[in-house]
Order: sequence, then C-alpha cells, then structure tokens
Amino acid sequence: MESNAKKLLEIQSLRTYFRVEDRIAKAVDGVDFDIYEGETLGLVGESGSGKSVTGLSILRLIPNPPGFIKEGNILFHGKNLLDLPYSEMRKIRGKEISMIFQEPMTSLNPVFSIGYQLMEVFKFHQNMEKEEAFERSVEMLELVGIPDPRKRMNDYPHQYSGGMRQRVMIAMALSCKPSLLIADEPTTALDVTIQAQVLDLMMKIKKEKVNAAILLITHDLGVVAETCHRVVVMYGGKIQEIAPVHDLFHDPKHPYTIGLLKSLPRPDRARQDRLPTIPGMVPEIFHFPKGCKFCNRCDFKMEKCETIEPELLEVSPDRKVRCHLFEGQKHGTDAK
Ligand code: SF4
Repeated sequence: MESNAKKLLEIQSLRTYFRVEDRIAKAVDGVDFDIYEGETLGLVGESGSGKSVTGLSILRLIPNPPGFIKEGNILFHGKNLLDLPYSEMRKIRGKEISMIFQEPMTSLNPVFSIGYQLMEVFKFHQNMEKEEAFERSVEMLELVGIPDPRKRMNDYPHQYSGGMRQRVMIAMALSCKPSLLIADEPTTALDVTIQAQVLDLMMKIKKEKVNAAILLITHDLGVVAETCHRVVVMYGGKIQEIAPVHDLFHDPKHPYTIGLLKSLPRPDRARQDRLPTIPGMVPEIFHFPKGCKFCNRCDFKMEKCETIEPELLEVSPDRKVRCHLFEGQKHGTDAK
C-alpha cells in the first residue's frame, strides 16, 4: 500500500443490531476503521465476532427485519452510504463496491445461465447492448481461467464445479472494476488446492487489472498473512486490535490476537504437540461479559476487566488495541 494512499471507506461508530423476540442482539457494537485506496484489509475473528455483519452493513444488505443499523456513518469517497436512497445504493452495489460471498451456489441464480447472469451486470451498470455484454462476459470468464469460455456461457451454475463457480463470482464482482471488493470467506467452501488458486487469482486480477481495495473477511490467519496490508481483529461485535500485518504476526498485543496466533499450526512445532487453543467458547450473543468482552477466556484478566469495558487505545501511530493492559501506553490523546 502506498504511504500517501487516500481513504476510500470510513466506518464510524457503526452499530448493527438484530431484534430477537423482545431482546436486541448487538452483532456490531461501535466499530470504527478506514480502508485506503488499493489496500487489502483483513477482517478476522471467530464465528459470531461481527465481521460478516460489518461487511453486509457496508452494502446495506442487512435483512430488515430483524436487523437494522442503529447508528453510525459509512463514508465512501466521503459520501455517507447510510443516507443514500435505495435507488442510489443499487447503482453502487456491483459497480463501485462488489461482494463475493462464501458459498457461490447460493449467490448465483440456479435458473439462469452463467452467461445471462454475467451479461446482466454489464447491461445494468454499463448500459451495454446484448452483443457487447456477451463479448465482455466471455473476456471475464477467460480472465478467471474458465476453459472454453464462449461455450461455457450457456451452462447453468450446477454444471460448474465449486471452484469454477467461485471464479465466476470473482469475474462478476470485478467486471465493473469496483474500487472496493468485499470478499466474505471467499475460499472457505472450496477444496484446499482450489483455495490457493482462487486466492492467487483474486490478488493477481486486483494487481494487474483493477487495483481495487479489498476487505477480506476471514477466520484464516494464514490467508491474511499472505495477502493483507493491515488487519482488524474483531470479537464480541467490537474491534479488539488493528495493526499492519507484519506487526500483528510478529508482535501481537491483544490477548485474543495472541491466542489466535498461538493456535496456528507451525512447521517448527513437533508433530506430537497438541495445538494450543483459546480456552472456552465464544459466548452466546446475549451472554457476553459486561466489561471486556473477552474476559471469560483471557489468561491476563484483572479484576476491573469484568466490569469496565476497555477503550480502543492508539498505542502507536498505526496500531490500536482494546485492553486494560495497555492503558499506560496510550499514544496521543485522541484514541477511539
Ligand atoms: Fe484480558 Fe483484561 Fe485485556 Fe480483556 S481487558 S483482554 S480481560 S487483560
């Protein structure tokens, strides 16, 4: 990432809640971060940490009811997406901000051919005539490595393998050269060998053709280490740590990040060693502790952790951490 890169997306105090009978589930509870032009930002955490809800909130795809964005701003090129009329938002989705979902079979419509679905993107967002949209769609299939793309335009999603469907989703997401691509666990549903291929492809197209910023939502820290510039670690609907990727892997600060990294398999570890794990489970959404959300699983817990929620402290110009252990190391005065 260039050091003078401009902010593309600014998420400010985002709170996305869900009504569950007469209770409110706070899936995302006060999240602030920025994405810079051309940056690949990893958003990591266990299931239930709020990372996918954050991604869906950016595109205003939270199903309402039961979900709703309680408050916050999502500035894209300085414009607040949460203030836009629905018709404007439709024009931004797929054109300026695209999303790749975890399971391509549920994202592609099974009753339309792959070609039809690709052509729709060009026709809707770029007002192309049928013939031109057809040719551009063939080009995109070729770009993502679908063999014999002209012929495969007529096939239906079930006639493609899982890896090929995910390639189609990448083709679709990148076809209008968006400035932001949100990829929500884009390789989780694929075989391990295909995972690496799909990831390489995404990064190659980003670099050579599109230069989109990518928000990569994943629980796979290995993928993050290989692809991201910076990392946001979420737990309990809140950001726990933000750091450049190298710093996070070499000097993790938050006890949750430390636990996540310790539980990664490493080549220098003896085969018979058991992998360390973070004790306990992510609590059910209504049962997170009152103070630090991580305190019932933390080895460093202090008395105040149970009752007082720590702030997200700026501990150096490009690092933030939410933990009472770092209160003496607050950098500057304006930590979020
Ligand atoms: Fe652990 Fe306390 Fe830090 Fe939470 S605030 S991560 S419980 S030390």
